[in-house]
Amino acid sequence: MKAIQVREFGGPEVLKLEEIPIPSPGPGEALVRVHAAGVNPYDTYMRSGTYAIRPPLPYTPGSDAAGIVEALGEGVTRVKRGDRVYTARTLSGAYAEYALAKETQLHPLPEKISFAQGAGIWVPYGTAYFALYLCAHARAGQSLLIHGASGGVGTAAVQMARALGLTVYGTAGSEKGLELVRREGAHRVFLHSKSGYQDEILAATGGRGVDLILEMLANVNLAADLKLLSTGGRVVVIGSRGEVTIAPRDLMMRRAAILGFALWGINEAEEREIHAGIAAGLECGAYRPVVGSELPLAEAQRAHVEILQSGAFGKIVLVP
Ligand code: NAP
Repeated sequence: MKAIQVREFGGPEVLKLEEIPIPSPGPGEALVRVHAAGVNPYDTYMRSGTYAIRPPLPYTPGSDAAGIVEALGEGVTRVKRGDRVYTARTLSGAYAEYALAKETQLHPLPEKISFAQGAGIWVPYGTAYFALYLCAHARAGQSLLIHGASGGVGTAAVQMARALGLTVYGTAGSEKGLELVRREGAHRVFLHSKSGYQDEILAATGGRGVDLILEMLANVNLAADLKLLSTGGRVVVIGSRGEVTIAPRDLMMRRAAILGFALWGINEAEEREIHAGIAAGLECGAYRPVVGSELPLAEAQRAHVEILQSGAFGKIVLVP
């Protein structure tokens, strides 16, 4: 089968399309014919070798795939051949024609969700769900700023928060991104590439500040975020690419809190809860993964460059 292989850590150029054997499922495992694989920022951190997770080399990147169950190992009961599924991690990597996964890593993909959309479920929706429900304990009627709402996690969070009954403020770095964030349900949108946009956000809340912030780039925004919080407000750090200096008094004055988490560190019970919530959201139409671009698997290098550029528009998906 064709698969992207990483034989050394480094820049996007280390992603190579190779011919490797199709893996065969062992007990409790299934083989999925991959129809689409989602590209996430952490795939690039891992590939560079600088991330907390350094997989043994060589490896095939990617945790998010959608496809059809092709073969089953002994004792598999959760899925059967021909099932449409999305993966939440795999054993062999998602950037490939086939992916091996534990049966517990496979989840039903509703008919109305395309394979390309299915490749944008686990990391984006799992992260948004954990941030909103399990970390921030968001409640209907609260106000929420999604700081970086135009990408994979951000669009998922906009849909989720809107369905939950929050007042949603979203930011993007381009006009096209703003249009997307508005379309997916944000009540107000702000251009984070424009100077002084934080004042516009504060003004939109009548000077009160927002109850919750989901932050996609904390190293740039955390200090300013604290000044946008209402009393008792909370920032959930989802993404950060460096260090940041904050003024702790901004927290003290507001009795505010900064929270953070990594999706790969959640426990089994949390993961079950997240999948149940995602399944309901997909079924009822509230969660609609946004596919911004579909690239052939051979263009994985380009996908890893584009995912880190500004001008996000939903998900970038690779098609084997
Ligand atoms: P993505 O699809 O590449 O989107 C990135 C988002 O960040 C876009 O909305 C982008 O907006 C926005 N952004 C860029 N510059 C910004 C700025 N100065 N201020 C605010 N937002 C800015 O990535 P993603 O999948 O949504 O992930 C977002 C971040 O969360 C990444 O850093 C990722 O590594 C992290 N993450 C963390 C976890 C976790 O477990 N904690 C899980 C998933 C993702 P424009 O492009 O429109 O400027």
